Amino acid sequence: MTGRIVIVGAGVAGATAARTLRTEGYTGEIVLLGAEPEPPYRRPMVSKEILAGTVEDRRTLLQPSDFWHIHDIELRLGARVESIDPGPALVWLADGTAIGYDSVLLATGARPRTLRLAPDGESATIRGSYGGVGGCGRILTLRGRADAEVLREAIGQGGSLLIVGAGLIGCEVAATARGLGVEVTVVDAAGLPLERVAPPVVGEFVRKLHADNGVAIHTDVLLTHLGHGGEQVVAAAADGRAWNAGVALVAIGSVPDTSLAEAAGLAVADGIRVDEHYRTSAAGVYAAGDVASRFDPAAGEHRREEHWNSAQSQGAAAARSMLGKPRATEDIAWGWSMQYGRNIQFAGSIRAADEQIVRGSVESGDATVVGLREGRSSGVVAIGRAAEFRAARDLMARGAVLDRESCADESRPLAAALTLSGQS
Ligand SMILES: Cc1cc2nc3c(=O)[nH]c(=O)nc-3n(C[C@H](O)[C@H](O)[C@H](O)COP(=O)(O)OP(=O)(O)OC[C@H]3O[C@@H](n4cnc5c(N)ncnc54)[C@H](O)[C@@H]3O)c2cc1C
Repeated sequence: MTGRIVIVGAGVAGATAARTLRTEGYTGEIVLLGAEPEPPYRRPMVSKEILAGTVEDRRTLLQPSDFWHIHDIELRLGARVESIDPGPALVWLADGTAIGYDSVLLATGARPRTLRLAPDGESATIRGSYGGVGGCGRILTLRGRADAEVLREAIGQGGSLLIVGAGLIGCEVAATARGLGVEVTVVDAAGLPLERVAPPVVGEFVRKLHADNGVAIHTDVLLTHLGHGGEQVVAAAADGRAWNAGVALVAIGSVPDTSLAEAAGLAVADGIRVDEHYRTSAAGVYAAGDVASRFDPAAGEHRREEHWNSAQSQGAAAARSMLGKPRATEDIAWGWSMQYGRNIQFAGSIRAADEQIVRGSVESGDATVVGLREGRSSGVVAIGRAAEFRAARDLMARGAVLDRESCADESRPLAAALTLSGQS
């Protein structure tokens, strides 16, 4: 197995793909190109330990710094790819040089979504390392290590922080900023925090958790203005509510970074479209991680995930696919969040129409909520119950039929909820 594989994006998907190529016996050249100046690092730490400034840089790295050299992986940092040309199979770098490839993996991840204010609302200038405009504002976004450093310094000077968005990143930053002694306010258009990943009962828990730690989360907020006013950032909502703070963070989700794929004419629809083997619509071009919208044969539809574990397992699977190796069994997509020392884990989706079984007590932050749809688990959210979450994930992955009485019975392990008909 010789030749050259080029990987664009040195996040967890790209870095894991590079490592997997070697562990699977690939002896050709591997070129790993990353736009950021740092070697691959643990992005989930950006809103937690890195923002808090409580961790040594080396502990944030995905691999020890000599790993890439030892495994003969050419890691090029600060190397932004400008375009890919699938015809002659070339990757063009910002410095004007081109690299030929036998296969290329696009693992360019995602970038923060920017704010679209209510009709006629005033748009803000947003500053961030990922395509933000302007360079001196106090309205920031957060995706990479550099952004965390800018945000920490800004909140240190500004003293108070307004977070737009009560999703995972907004809530984590609120918790971290409180730990730094900063006054924090959160606003969101939704009715509850974490609405995208957790059912209302967990959203209420998270709202109270923040309130107990001095953070008010204002919901149902339709922002009409966010801008700089003197030394402050000022925000206003359609219903007349208004806020000001030293600094604002816009944390309203992310969008897949598909610009290279679009310019190269690849199929793109909320992410780069790939088949179940991570192949894009162009021969020799693969995609994985946050940027990829992968066809899930079990669900019969394309899905894009934005979780660390998914990006990691997709990177490994794409590498095997590039080598023509059979697909290993993949874990179902799941993520986690850490706020004020509480570990919240989630997988699948619990819709309003699903039956919800609560094991333990959500109010006391020790619970697993299982969603049941047509007898099977549609989703699970656990607070401080990592072992039970693993068991629930396993049942979900097996598509097991669950007995609701045993599922609700805390005196029995969750695995006991598996009915005979659901055993595989
Ligand atoms: C602040 C934060 C906290 C998070 N916390 C959690 C958490 O607690 N739990 C969880 O499950 N998930 C979390 N996530 C999500 C998780 O980190 C992502 O799902 C994961 O990092 C995606 O990995 P990726 O490799 O696909 O993309 P990324 O990590 O985004 O990496 C893509 C890389 O590609 C580079 N790139 C882009 N374009 C180019 C180009 N043209 N040329 C060269 N390089 C390029 C980028 O600079 C970047 O380094 C968090 C995300 C953020 C932003």
